[in-house]
Amino acid sequence: MRRLRLEMARTHTKRSALNGRHSSGRSGKKPRRHIAVIGAGAFGGWTALYLQRRGARVTLLDAWGPGNSRASSGGETRVIRGVYGPDQPYTALAARAMQLWREHQKRWRRKFFFPAGVLWMADSAAEFERGSLPLLKEAGIPFEELTASQMTRRWPQINFERSAWGIFEPQSGYLLARASARAVVEHFLAEGGDYRQAAVMSPAGAALDSEWRTLKLSDGSSLAADSYVFACGPWLGTLFPRTIGPHFASTKQDVFFFGTPPSDSRYNEGSIPVWADHRDHFMYGIPGNEARGFKIADDTRGPAFDPTSGERVISHRRLAEVRRYLDYRFPGMKNAPLVESRVCQYEDTTDHNFIIDRHPAQASLWIVGGGSGHGFKHGPALGEMVANLVIRDEMSPANFRLSRFKRRPTGGKYAK
Ligand SMILES: Cc1cc2nc3c(=O)[nH]c(=O)nc-3n(C[C@H](O)[C@H](O)[C@H](O)COP(=O)(O)OP(=O)(O)OC[C@H]3O[C@@H](n4cnc5c(N)ncnc54)[C@H](O)[C@@H]3O)c2cc1C
Repeated sequence: MRRLRLEMARTHTKRSALNGRHSSGRSGKKPRRHIAVIGAGAFGGWTALYLQRRGARVTLLDAWGPGNSRASSGGETRVIRGVYGPDQPYTALAARAMQLWREHQKRWRRKFFFPAGVLWMADSAAEFERGSLPLLKEAGIPFEELTASQMTRRWPQINFERSAWGIFEPQSGYLLARASARAVVEHFLAEGGDYRQAAVMSPAGAALDSEWRTLKLSDGSSLAADSYVFACGPWLGTLFPRTIGPHFASTKQDVFFFGTPPSDSRYNEGSIPVWADHRDHFMYGIPGNEARGFKIADDTRGPAFDPTSGERVISHRRLAEVRRYLDYRFPGMKNAPLVESRVCQYEDTTDHNFIIDRHPAQASLWIVGGGSGHGFKHGPALGEMVANLVIRDEMSPANFRLSRFKRRPTGGKYAK
């Protein structure tokens, strides 16, 4: 049924694309500004929806569709939480996103946000976690500080050795990724947007980084709009090799799903929360949900990965490491079978901050991306922010501007 709605919408958009670039629908009215959004992942989809709501005429394009298997917004689930360390904009953005996720699922009568709780295990130094506390408070994200013995009493199925304390966010949790990415585009269509499944090719004879007027699409057509928002996730570095390339990497990330023991719900949602372990390196996971197994991944950046042609086969060395960790931290999962695996990629900036800015050579072209392993949760809040910036023709916050790379080549630690 849902697939049908997207297919029908495609036919509709082909027809409406014929109506001309500046058509207002009613004669005598000022033509609406036409904005093309390229990329229908978490960033582009929500941006398109909010631009449409702000009164623009929006054409949304995607090469393979929202939440496709190559996209960073593909796959089952993503963590949503507020712990983000000190001095950063993301806790407040996550709080706004939580509010918008809740509002949309109520409005759309579909559940994407599962407040299973999120537990951060920290060591005693833990500047990152300590620095998060005032920002959580300020943003109004509920949290509890727990000692190791409190955590052990609460979740005896986890071995809390070498975790001195933790932060528990009872109302945070996980989101459905691919399902929500598709739903956003369905609702964008229902609210009057145009979606076309086609890839933007570089304009003939030029790179997107140079000045151009019209985009060439993979279906042989071309597209001209008043403004463009490129939200092409891990593809941004190759689409804009001069502007984005030097500050950007697409890295291979392996994700593992282990089968929980039969008739044992200790590692399923309801028994343990989403968790993150910030000790030596950053491991995280989501309890078994929708019978898909216990998700676990290592946030360490993997090797460079081509999102178009890369073969999505997990590393056996990484699997062995994850298994060792699983046996240690979650003893009841010892020898659990791998029931599924996925290869995704981070679209990682050198400082792990997002990119939201105009292209330096073309003021009508915005670049939105660099989710860096933690972007998904922010989708609705980011879409709302980007739509406001584009419509009001404002500057983005300094943290997200391209000019920051000149000042600050490396930094932050914002994963998940
Ligand atoms: C393993 C993994 C775990 C993660 N965990 C979390 C988490 O727990 N919490 C969290 O908040 N975030 C997490 N993230 C990060 C988050 O998923 C991403 O930051 C976010 O999904 C990026 O969305 P995007 O829209 O920028 O990119 P994408 O989803 O990749 O969307 C880009 C779209 O552009 C399209 N496209 C590309 N080139 C073209 C072209 N030339 N023409 C037309 N279309 C094109 C693609 O088809 C794609 O659909 C994780 C990421 C990974 C890989």
